[in-house]
Amino acid sequence: MHNAGFTALGLPYTYVAFKTTDTDFAIQAMRKLGIRGYSLTIPHKERGSVLVDRLSVEGRRIGAINTVVNDGNELVGYNTDCLGIDQALLEAGVDQRGKRVLVLGAGGAARAAVYCAVSGGAGEVIVYNRTPTRAESLARDFNVKAWDYTWTWPSVLSETDLLINAAPIGMTGDNSSVEYPFPLEILSSRYAVFDMVTRETALLAEARKKRATVIPGSRMLLFQALGQFQLFTGENAPLGAMESALMSALAE
Ligand code: NAP
Repeated sequence: MHNAGFTALGLPYTYVAFKTTDTDFAIQAMRKLGIRGYSLTIPHKERGSVLVDRLSVEGRRIGAINTVVNDGNELVGYNTDCLGIDQALLEAGVDQRGKRVLVLGAGGAARAAVYCAVSGGAGEVIVYNRTPTRAESLARDFNVKAWDYTWTWPSVLSETDLLINAAPIGMTGDNSSVEYPFPLEILSSRYAVFDMVTRETALLAEARKKRATVIPGSRMLLFQALGQFQLFTGENAPLGAMESALMSALAE
């Protein structure tokens, strides 16, 4: 997406992927090599936020960053995931105001989803996570509810408006072996279902079958990248070029 954008605008940048598990080293390399920008993904988002010199409001509040901009050797951390979530919801016609939002996961993406729901005026936000203590900690940070194990899925889902999968459930492998914390059959058309995973998952397939409003992770991926592009280059991102690059990559 970024390279397609640079080409479309004739900008002298190139975007490459670095694979590392050493966040501290990678951030130092940015200073030493004069790299203009990073996109950060799993597992660098939270550690990255304590290594930069300055954080945007979203980066500080979420406690995780997906973007670093090297501004004259000052490293500034941003989080454009919330922008990506907001834009994807807006495109699908989903308004969180006053609604019940249920978030699966308690990592960096879930933190962005909860921040976004709270700042978007959601009426109630509930966090469910495989490891309950992490859900409790996230819920405490944002003053929302953690899943209570006396609740049942049907009773909570019957009052839920927006279900967000912010865990990598369904990210790899075949859909039949994927394990969600509730039986997918209980989904109905009353929900909007937002799956941050960028492939067609069993969750999305069931939501489509039930005629629920579906928000695929690929839309968030596009919109968060448009925000990054603007931060990296100072230019408005060329939507058409970046969207077609993403669609071709996802189709491969
Ligand atoms: P992360 O910080 O590693 O957090 C992962 C969370 O998912 C943790 O709460 C973890 O639970 C839970 N989890 C992991 N494997 C699980 C499983 N098999 N079953 C149930 N829960 C599981 O990751 P992240 O950065 O938040 O990313 C989460 C997902 O969002 C990934 O799939 C990522 O690709 C996606 N994402 C998409 C976009 C986009 O633009 N579409 C942007 C950001 C992230 P424990 O606490 O129990 O380990």
